[in-house]
Parts: sequence; structure tokens; C-alpha cells
Amino acid sequence: MDLKDLKGIGKKREEALNKLDIYTISDLYNYYPREYEDRSKKMILPKAREDIKYFFRWKIESKLYYHRSGSYQLSYLYASEKKEKIKIIYFNDKFTPQKLLIGKTYNFYCKIVRKNGFYEAYNPIFSELDDKKTIGSIIALYPLTKGLNLKTLRKLIQESLKYYDKNEEVIDKETLEYFKLNKREENLNQIHFPKTIKDLKKAKSQIKINDLLKDLYFLDLVKNQKYTKQSLKLSYNLPEILNKLDFALTRGQKRSLLEILKDSLSEKPMNRLLCGDVGSGKTIVAILTMIIFAINGYQSAMMVPTEVLAIQQFEKNKDFIESFGLKVSLITSSSKDKKTLKDFLADGKIDIIIGTHALIQEDVSFKNLKLVVNDEQHRFGVMQRQKLAQKGINPNYLTMTATPIPRTLYLKIAKLLDISIIDELPKNRLPIETEIISNTMEETLFEKLFENLRNKRQIYVVSNNIDGEDRYSVENLYKKYKKVFRDYRIEKLHGKLNPNEKEQILKDFSKGIIDILITTTVIEVGIDVKNASVMVIYNASMFGLSTLHQLRGRVGRGPYKSYCYLVSNKESPSKKLEILKKSNDGFEIAKYDLEMRGGGKILSTIQHGKNLENIDYLSMTKEEIDKAFEIYFYTKENNFCGVNFNYIKKYFNLDRGIILN
Ligand code: ADP
Ligand code: MG
Repeated sequence: MDLKDLKGIGKKREEALNKLDIYTISDLYNYYPREYEDRSKKMILPKAREDIKYFFRWKIESKLYYHRSGSYQLSYLYASEKKEKIKIIYFNDKFTPQKLLIGKTYNFYCKIVRKNGFYEAYNPIFSELDDKKTIGSIIALYPLTKGLNLKTLRKLIQESLKYYDKNEEVIDKETLEYFKLNKREENLNQIHFPKTIKDLKKAKSQIKINDLLKDLYFLDLVKNQKYTKQSLKLSYNLPEILNKLDFALTRGQKRSLLEILKDSLSEKPMNRLLCGDVGSGKTIVAILTMIIFAINGYQSAMMVPTEVLAIQQFEKNKDFIESFGLKVSLITSSSKDKKTLKDFLADGKIDIIIGTHALIQEDVSFKNLKLVVNDEQHRFGVMQRQKLAQKGINPNYLTMTATPIPRTLYLKIAKLLDISIIDELPKNRLPIETEIISNTMEETLFEKLFENLRNKRQIYVVSNNIDGEDRYSVENLYKKYKKVFRDYRIEKLHGKLNPNEKEQILKDFSKGIIDILITTTVIEVGIDVKNASVMVIYNASMFGLSTLHQLRGRVGRGPYKSYCYLVSNKESPSKKLEILKKSNDGFEIAKYDLEMRGGGKILSTIQHGKNLENIDYLSMTKEEIDKAFEIYFYTKENNFCGVNFNYIKKYFNLDRGIILN
């Protein structure tokens, strides 16, 4: 049955669902809630606090009044709860309150405010008394999209569960019973429509165990997959190579490099994931590997997610690579003379290529591609990664990510998955100092910036929009900064510039010719300029935590004391900014990041979409992780009896030769 055959789905709704990456009925019931609201317990007004939303029951006492106040259109009416009177106000919404009828009692869900002997409620959600699905139970909330409200989505999910595909059960009834687990179907029902908090917790926990288990079986399959043997000859003098660097590798870097080289020499092509927090120095590990491949006559390609990053990786590593007598090139969609570039690649005249998606175009081919590196792995879809790997014959595959993995899980999963971790930052780093600055304190901020400029440091200024009306758009900040910092060179960098401009600006910033770079999140990943030691982020609360952490990671990359100023529009800074101020640790930050669902996802082979089937490894407890492994080993001992491998294969699309990580 197709999605559109489900009751309640027409063309419009189907399109809206597609926007959420929901394409099948299974996608629909596997669309995990983001959070929950406990609307199950009724509250009475005298006992209510003002800062919490509650479920109330009120009777409508008056007709609807309209009133205009400035730019607001107010609709209001009066209601009662025993002796208490409530004024219910809807701002800019004429239609919703029209459904409330005089003399009738409804359930409401809202916060209240006490004002002049009255209670007031603003734009409250309401429902008929018997409609427990809206108010009166625990409600799952989901990321929504235009044209699809919560009520509709919930209805559709409920409908979809009627068509649950029993093949999605990973282990059989006996095994489930042995481990005292419920069927996945039951758990799905609970996570969408929980009866009690206790049931919900149990179901969520079992779903996580189940999903991790699925990954474990998949890893097992991949481990035992057939492969074409390789016999690479790699000879190199590592101390000599490392001597050319102007720093010593950290222990984590060295260990990772050795693990990578060992893999490359084994008869099974490498498939390794390199993890390390922002700034831990993953790039150089990849570059060194590429150099070693190149001096032995094998080509390698490194794919990165943005043009800006490709340019900068290329510029930064060019001299070092060339010092070995090797040829390195850059390819992006705007590269000039692509024809020659492609010919050179096909003839093997280029040893190392760094590029964007342009690398996976049809007509790019290699003579002897033996190493594929994928930086910022999570930014690519699995198909893109696969396409690059298919340009070589059985290439060795290295992916890099800053996605944090809990140590407890890492230790266990390392037995199944080849994974290297750089768990320390280079030595000379001073911790970045993070400050939250209210936008009313601009003078203070500018003073700090002047001081850094006088010390010859460079500054990034980031905004969340390019040319909006907003005072803090890139364009408006540019104008402002031009005026304030008259003696300094200020440039803008954003996605709308043409590639030549981008390249020039990046080069100039790297060389230190530009003092202040006003930019967007195009610099979020990878960019690396040591002398830049100040990061100013405007509209800081508008960014996700992980983005803020990444952005901040652009400074503190050299020996200089670095600062990150989060400019907040609110008087009291958000919790998000406070967390950032307190911690420099990517793992800790990710743990807090509710937006980053599935932040600890290891197998991004699962590419249905953002919210689907992402396991929130980060929030898994040790007991849950242990349980999944316990079941895995138990079934393994029993020759995987009762494990639904057909589903696992289908689910992970194994036939298409999916690449791990
Ligand atoms: P990430 O892991 O975030 O990709 P990068 O590879 O961009 O980090 O490295 C961050 C910066 O640290 C770069 O400027 C790099 O040259 C520098 N770096 C890497 N390793 C070391 C080291 N062992 N000692 C000093 N600096 C290093
Ligand atoms: Mg990087």
C-alpha cells in the first residue's frame, strides 16, 4: 500500500509529508516524536503557577469581542472555572476562537497570567471534552512543516499504524520474551500515543535497544561481506614524513594514522571512521595518508561538503603536499578548465584531488583511485559517498566526522566497526573563552574587538542571514562595521558571491590581509585560520547548539587566546547559550542538544531523512547499550536463529553495496 492510499492523504498532504522525508507508510509510523507534553493531568486555577502550561477545564461565558490595538488584532472572550473568571485572548487569530460556543465547557491547554483580579490566557489550545487526543493525555510532538499541523499528523500516524509491516520486527517472539521485551509494533504505538509516562519511558528505551540491535546485525553482515582482496604496496619512511610538519602529531592522531595505514595494508580494503571533536586535527591525518598513497603511485580523492572548505583545504595543504614532489588539484563546480583537470585525473597525472560534489560527476574518472576520504561525513548522503567510492576499484575508504560517540558505546562498537578516535586537542591550545553579550552592549563588544585588532588578530563575524531587513544581516553588519572599524579591512563572505570572489576573499583572509570577515554559516565546517582568534555570532540564539559549537571551533586553532562572543537579542540569554559558555566539549554539548536528534548516529547509511530512524545514541544509558549487545551475542551464539536478516538487508540496502559509516 502506498502512502497516498492511506485514509486522509491527498496530493497536498503527501507533498507535505515528503517534505518531512516521509515517503511510505512505514516512514510515517517510524517518524519519531521530538518531544512530549504531559497534558494528562487537570489543574485548577488557584493552584496553577504562571510559568507552566496546564490542562484546565473552563466554561465559556461570553460572546467573542474584537479589538484592534496597534498592529494587533485581538479576539477575546470570558470563561469561568467555578468562582474564577478567565479572559481568553487570541492575538491575530479571528477564526480559532469562533469555534468556542457560549455555555459550553472545553478543555484548554495553556499558561495563565494573573491580572487585575482576573486570569488571562493567550492563544490557548482547546478541545472538546471527549477529545483526549488533543488534551487529556500525554501528547507526542513532532517536527512539522507547512500544510501539516500536529493534529493531522497524529491522525495519519495512527492510521498508518494499522498497516504496520510485521517484517519490521528484528527478532522473533521467543527471543523477545526471553529478554522481556515487547514487540516493536507495541512500542511504536506507545511512543506515538503513550498512556502513562512510565509506559512511554519503557517503550522509548526498548525502541532504542531494538534500533541499536538492528545496527549491530547490520555491522555483522558487513563484516562478513565478500570483498575483493587487495595487495597494496606502501613503502614510506614515517619519521621522515612527520619531520616535515611544523608540529608533532598528538597521540590520538598518531594512533589513528597507524590504524589507517594498517588497514590499507591488509588484504581487505579499509572502511574506517575517524572521529574527533572540532579542531582535533583530523585533516592532517587524512592528508598524510593521501601523501603516503601518492608516493606509492596510488591516487586519492578527498570530498568535502562546501566549496569554501574545499578551497581552503587545498590552499592550506598544497605546499606541504607538493614538497613531496606530488601533484595536488582542486575541483569544484566552478573550477576553470575542467576538461584538462579531468584528463589529468584520468591519466593519473594528478595524485591527490580535493573537491566538492563536483568529484562525483559522471565524467570524472581516475586512473588508479585507491583512497577515498570523506570529510564531514554526516553532510553527505549515502549515495553521494558511494558514487565517489565507485570511481575507484575497491578503494580504501576513510570517513571523518566530529559526531561525538559516547565512550561506553565506542568501546563496544569498536569490536564491530573500524573506528579511530582522536580524543585530545593539540597541545598548545588555550581554551576558548565564551561570553554572552546582550545586543544593547554593543560598545563593550566593539572595545573588545578593537583590542584584538590592535593585537593583530583577525575576527569572524557571523550572521544567520545575508540581506534580510534585520539589523544583524551580513549586509547591515558590513555597513555598520565599515563605519566603526574605519582603519581596518573588512570583507563579506557568503554563498551568493561568485566563486572567484569567494576564493579571493578566503585567500586574503588566510594571509591576514583581511581583518574582519563578515559571513554566514558557510564557514561553519572545516575552515582553519590560526590567526583568527575572535568569533562574534549575532542572533546567536537562532542557531542550533551544534552549529554554534562548530562555528566557535573556527577559532582557538593557534597559540593565541581566543574568544567567542555570542550576541543575544534577549535580555536573559537562552539556556543554549549558557551551555555553550560553560562547556567546550563537543560531546557534552551534543548531549544537551535536543535539536540534534540522532546526533550520535554512527551508521548514517540510513538515509531516509532527518528524523526517521535516527537512534539517539547519546541519550542511551549504559544499561540499554549493554542490553542490545547482550541480545546480539545471545543470538549470535544461537546462529542468529530468529533474527530477521532479510529485513536488515532490505533496510540497509545491502545489495547496493552500501559503504559503512
Ligand atoms: P578538525 O579535526 O576540526 O578537522 P583540523 O584538521 O582542521 O581540525 O585542524 C585544526 C588545526 O589544528 C589546523 O590548523 C591544523 O593544522 C592544526 N593541527 C592539527 N594537528 C596539530 C598538532 N598535532 N599540533 C598543532 N596543531 C595541529
Ligand atoms: Mg575538519
